[in-house]
Parts: sequence; C-alpha cells; structure tokens
Amino acid sequence: MNNSVYSNDISEVVEADRAHLWHHLIQHKPFETSDPRVIIEGKGMRVWDAKGNELLDAVSGGVWTVNVGYGRESIAKAVYDQLIKVNYFANSAGSIPGSIFAKKLIEKMPGMSRVYYTNSGSEANEKAFKMIRQIAHKRYGGKKHKILYRDRDYHGATIATMSAGGQDERNAQYGPFVPGFVKVPHCLEYRKQWDVENYGERAADAIEEVILREGPDTVGALCLEPVTAGGGVITPPQGYWERVQEICKKYDILLHIDEVVCGVGRTGTWFGYQHFGIKPDFVTMAKGVASGYAAIACMVTTEEVFNMFKDDSSDPMNYFRDISTFGGCTAGPAAAIENMRIIEDEGLLENTIKMGERTMNNLRALMEKHRVIGDVRGKGLFCGAELVADRQTKEPVDEKKVQAVVAECGAQGVIIGATNRSLPGFNNTLCLSPALIATADDIDQITGAIDKALTKVFS
Ligand code: PMP
Repeated sequence: MNNSVYSNDISEVVEADRAHLWHHLIQHKPFETSDPRVIIEGKGMRVWDAKGNELLDAVSGGVWTVNVGYGRESIAKAVYDQLIKVNYFANSAGSIPGSIFAKKLIEKMPGMSRVYYTNSGSEANEKAFKMIRQIAHKRYGGKKHKILYRDRDYHGATIATMSAGGQDERNAQYGPFVPGFVKVPHCLEYRKQWDVENYGERAADAIEEVILREGPDTVGALCLEPVTAGGGVITPPQGYWERVQEICKKYDILLHIDEVVCGVGRTGTWFGYQHFGIKPDFVTMAKGVASGYAAIACMVTTEEVFNMFKDDSSDPMNYFRDISTFGGCTAGPAAAIENMRIIEDEGLLENTIKMGERTMNNLRALMEKHRVIGDVRGKGLFCGAELVADRQTKEPVDEKKVQAVVAECGAQGVIIGATNRSLPGFNNTLCLSPALIATADDIDQITGAIDKALTKVFS
C-alpha cells in the first residue's frame, strides 16, 4: 500500500491522539513512551497502520465486527445513495431501508417478527430488558421482573447491561448496579463445576435451581449468549440448550438471546441460536449487522410480544414508551441490506463453516504440539484456544504471557485477540474471529503465526 498521502499528516494525527483521544478499553500510560496504533486503511482481510505495517486482521476490527471485510465499495455506495436521499428521520416514522432490511432480516429468522432499531449492542439489550420489565408490569403486577444472566456472558457497557454482566472483574468500581438481575452458572465444560456425564443438562439444571431459589413467579427472562464471546469463547455442551428451553417453557420465562457477536454469519448460520434449535422471544444483534460500515443494532422480537404492546390501545401507557434517536438513521439499514446481500451472493455462510473447520483443525494440530494449549473451542469463524500452565490442574498461564503471544503475532503481521485482560482465570484464551471471507491461506497464516508465537513465548 502506498501511504505517502498520509505521511505528512501522521505526526499531527498521533499528537492529536496523544493529547485528546481517550481510547476504549485500554490503559493509556504506555502511550507516554510508545505510539498509539492508528489504522488508516483496510482492504479485504487486511489493514494498514500509520507506520505502513500491513496486518492480517484475525479479529474483524478487533471486536468481531467487520464480517464482510474491509473496503466494500458497494456498501459505501449504498450508504451514500441513501444519505443524499434522506439521512434521518425519527423512527416513529418509517424509512425505505429500515422497512426493507426489517423484512429481509425476519426472512432469516423464522418465528420472529418485529425489528426495533438502535445504535449499539448494549442499547439493543437495554431495549429487551425494558420490554421484559414492562411485560412484568402489564401482566404480572410488576412481580415477574427478574432477569437472569450467566456467569462469563457480557451484554454491554451501560449500567443496566453491566448489571447483567457475568464478568465480575469488569464490573468492579462501577456499582451499585440495577436491582433485579440474577446470575446463573456458566456452562464451560472444560472448567467443570459438576462431575457428571450429561454436563449440558446439568449446567442447564443449575439455571432451574436459581429459578426455584428466586421463586419462578419473580423471574421474567433469561438472557444468554449462544456462544459466549469475551468470557472465553464458550461453546455450549451437548444437551444444554434443549434443557434451557424446557426450563424457560416450564416456568413461563422469556428467552433473550444476545447475538451481538454471533449474529449475521459469525458461526456459519445467520444466527448462533439457529445451531441449537432455540425459539427465542428476543434476539439482539449489532456488530455484524452492517459490518461496522454504519452504526446499527437491532432488537428483534416475536409477534406475540409485539401484540402485548399493541392490544388495549385505549390505555395510554400500553405501548413501548422508548426511543433511540439514531435508531432513525438510514445509513445503518442501507448498509445492512448490502451487507446481507454480500453474505448471500458470495456464499459466506458456507465459507464460514469450511474455514471454521480448518481453523479448528489447525488449532487441534497446535494443541498436539504445544502443551500450553489446554482446550480449543469454536463454532464457525469464532474460535478460541485456552492456554494453561499445566494440563492436569488447568491453571491458567500468566496473563502477561497471553499478551506476549498476541504481541508476537502482531510482530509477525497478524492481529489476534485474547479474552478480556482483566479476568483472572479467564484471560487466557486466544481469540480468532476473522472476516467471513477468509481463505485457507489466511487461516494458515493466522495459525502459523500462533504456532511461532507459542514456540517463542513458551520455550
Ligand atoms: N453483547 C455482546 C455479546 C458483546 O460482545 C457486546 C460488545 N462486545 C455487547 C453486547 C455490547 O455491544 P456494544 O459494544 O455495541 O454496546
């Protein structure tokens, strides 16, 4: 890439960054002595930084977002064409791309019916939480208001979504939180909490135990990630989801599936829940909806839930009294329509399954070679390798070593991720989530870099 057009300006950019930018999720002290990374261009699977480094991005923009890859002119054009027509009107009115994308999305989600637009995954989850609370008030005199969430799951960065946050260390120093959110145990079989044969069923039964402890008439909903993302790439054990669903039905508990990471192709189906035959009441999605070409998130629900807010229109309180200003931006759904077309026309779901299998096979081969890999997990192009100091005790490796592996891959020109750095015991999983366009060569380059990095860091 020729980055000469940037070179004169780049010191000004870095200076402005140091002086005025507050980056997300990182400590800034290191920037006193080193430069922040500035990404200036992207094409396909690759990005270029201000120093001219070409980097193969194995994490789709850092946080599982750029599902169709960088530099998609057709999405930029769709957004441009829409913006010059009309950029915005509050979503109490409709828009052409808003309606068309809603229709196309629902076609991919049998059983679902209504799309509510918002800006971010956190906000989409908040909308579902608010609906769940309102249903509790409308139907159960406010009693069935508790929302269960799972240890290790993440649902957002706002105070209410953090109240449903299963990564405790991430929440430290931000309380007090919102009442009425109750934690259930995680289902990671590698770190067993019960010594039983049917682990999936047992882990689901643990949810029932919490429901019985709290009182079923107080529990309104259960909110889960289909595959836990930042909490450690946790794929559900066999039998888990079937049992979860039975439990929800038994106690009349609404099921809210957070597809912010898994949604729109990441796991090789349109939505992660579709692997497990789940019938959700709410599905939230964000990152892959428009692959980061525009900010858009959706809260999707059923006609049954929708009707609860429509019936009895004589009651002035009987509607969802909520708005998201930028839920009326037309750029988001315009980008999302084109994003979806690309996934379909380029066969990216099929590619995701194929390349996901290749990634898992490569990781399994690395596990044979490197004793430090204790477990590999994944679904589609969403894979993790958990690093342990001892396979017997499963003691996690020192988090500095995990970061050294990530840095070493970076030095080889490959950006990989690791689960949240501040989580003792769970900060030890290398994370891969390349764009759904990844080729066999890309996958081999990614796992090849990990191979070398593990050799370097652990020998
Ligand atoms: N849910 C999950 C599973 C996520 O991973 C995230 C973001 N990492 C969110 C919700 C929150 O999304 P956002 O950052 O867009 O608010």
